[in-house]
Amino acid sequence: MAVVADERERTALDAVPKKLLIGGEWVDGAEGTFGVEDPSTGETIAEVADAGPEDALRALAAADGVQAEWAAHPPRERSEILRRAFESMVERSDELALVMTLEMGKPVVESQAEVKYAAEFFRWFSEQAVRVAGRYQVNTAGQGRVIVMKQPVGPAYLITPWNFPAAMATRKIGPAVAAGCTMILKPASATPLTALAVARILQESGLPPGVLNVVTSTSSSAVSKPLFEDFRLRKLSFTGSTEVGQKLIEQSAKQVLRASMELGGNAPFLVFDDADLDAALDGAMIAKMRNIGEACTAANRFHVAESLADAFTEGLAKRMGSLKLGRGTEEGVQVGPLINEEQVHKVEELVDDAVRKGAKPIVGGHRADGRGYFFEPTVLGGIPDDARVLKEEIFGPVAPIKAFSDEEQALRWANDTEYGLVAYVYTRDLGRAFRVMEGLEYGMIGLNRGLVSDPAAPFGGVKYSGIGREGGFEGIEEYLETKYCAISY
Ligand code: NAP
Repeated sequence: MAVVADERERTALDAVPKKLLIGGEWVDGAEGTFGVEDPSTGETIAEVADAGPEDALRALAAADGVQAEWAAHPPRERSEILRRAFESMVERSDELALVMTLEMGKPVVESQAEVKYAAEFFRWFSEQAVRVAGRYQVNTAGQGRVIVMKQPVGPAYLITPWNFPAAMATRKIGPAVAAGCTMILKPASATPLTALAVARILQESGLPPGVLNVVTSTSSSAVSKPLFEDFRLRKLSFTGSTEVGQKLIEQSAKQVLRASMELGGNAPFLVFDDADLDAALDGAMIAKMRNIGEACTAANRFHVAESLADAFTEGLAKRMGSLKLGRGTEEGVQVGPLINEEQVHKVEELVDDAVRKGAKPIVGGHRADGRGYFFEPTVLGGIPDDARVLKEEIFGPVAPIKAFSDEEQALRWANDTEYGLVAYVYTRDLGRAFRVMEGLEYGMIGLNRGLVSDPAAPFGGVKYSGIGREGGFEGIEEYLETKYCAISY
């Protein structure tokens, strides 16, 4: 194992449990261990338990074994566990952020922002836990009564990606705990450490054994398969790529699982001729560069009114070109590495394809020299219609710009995708804002802002971007069944 740069990093990594959490015990994995890499150096920074299918089944048995008891647990106590976990995450945010940066690469300030955002899901759902309500109604004939109960759906399988290692986990664990569901969390093998640290916090906050089980594994498909075939599992909540999501929807069909899917995106960023240019550039930098462009919400393509296109391109190139690349733990670094070599290749391929077809690199365009998986912040102008970069999720620091002639064309281009997660719109014309917001086929819209994520809001997409919503009042519904009782008396 490589020597980690400083003592503080070593201490933070040492504090993270590296085993599976099953039935309240930290246990070894059937497949031994696997290495977790620092993407800024390519070096292994920790060894974590590697689960096999039998571990996954033990985790399901633990979750199922306490489901009835947990469903009956007082909502106020469920709420207070989440509240304590929120406070603990905030207290330990520096340490958690450091671990996150070491395994995922983003600059420490961004990891700190994610820890705060992630903790907010615990606070939000601690407030929701005591507000689950059904209803009472007189039936249409006037002789019977309708009572609607909300009950936990049952043991849930939560699968999370590597790009937001804390928030994608808490956005699922929070509502599951609040609703009274037990669960198995399977974080991405690239970033298991943050999830394990969050699990330890929940344990220390009083979450009873078996309610949350964590399996880390390098064989996600093999570990998941027996769960999908076991009727005790009643719910799947997945965040990740559309490609894997489609497979999991198929696998969920067998046991008719309640499935929530937070999948990929191809977000358009529209700048109309009446927009405030500086505000649009500020928003563009957030929408594009948050998380090194590795966000499902990342602006994937910029469609700018012809009259503003040159100024916008120049402004964006200036800002992108001045960003500091480096290891996320270093002072002043604004852009970390991509997650792995494969991701660098994918981004390279998309840029090369666009340039080969006639796009013009204004700034950047290449992988950065040296160790690790760095790619230069890139702005591409003159994007041809057939460039793959307009159709595929980039997941990197590349901003393609294409000028539009009018509102109808902007909207048509924006909707010309199978994805439908988020779209950004910059305009100061109220009528246009409403026309465009209503016309966009997306689950979320950012109007004059480059960031939509908020624990109080329903996050999610339409079409290839998913099914269901996380956060907001809607988030807990994904973990609740509706039971209707027809009453005569
Ligand atoms: P991914 O490859 O689809 O993996 C997501 C998770 O699924 C990981 O835990 C992965 O584990 C696991 N997995 C992969 N194949 C599986 C299988 N056959 N059975 C069960 N589990 C399986 O996605 P990613 O590369 O981690 O994340 C990037 C993608 O997530 C992007 O497309 C992004 O847009 C999307 N995303 C969406 C949202 C949203 O809210 N809509 C939020 C964040 C990210 P291993 O990696 O260990 O195999």
